[in-house]
Amino acid sequence: MAEKIELTEQDWKERLTPDQYKILRQGGTEPPFANMYVHEKRDGVYRCAGCGTQLFSSETKYDSKSGWPSFWDPISKDALRFVEDRSFGMVRVEVKCAACDGHLGHLFDDGPNPTGMRYCMNSAAMELDPADDE
Ligand code: FE
Repeated sequence: MAEKIELTEQDWKERLTPDQYKILRQGGTEPPFANMYVHEKRDGVYRCAGCGTQLFSSETKYDSKSGWPSFWDPISKDALRFVEDRSFGMVRVEVKCAACDGHLGHLFDDGPNPTGMRYCMNSAAMELDPADDE
């Protein structure tokens, strides 16, 4: 299981950029398409921007046309926490980082094979660790 990371709001504010803070700590959503990783093609591992936990591999990233970086499977479900989200008159599944409790995005069941799942993430909640195989 992931080790829990607990910081004060002041610590988070100092540690994160304003965009990262708004998403990770306040549950915000960045605009579709106008975000860092929606069209990212490099290989590597996407880590939580709050705590560095490995979340998604570029191997499971696909173009969902939603405007947000989308994955069909996480590196480990243990790294994530799933919470029912009834905001905005919808029932959705919120995806949070299990270690720092940061808001990452939402989970939908309209993804591609083999899982059929779509992990719809906010770019600013993640940091890509590019594979340096070139
Ligand atoms: Fe985290």
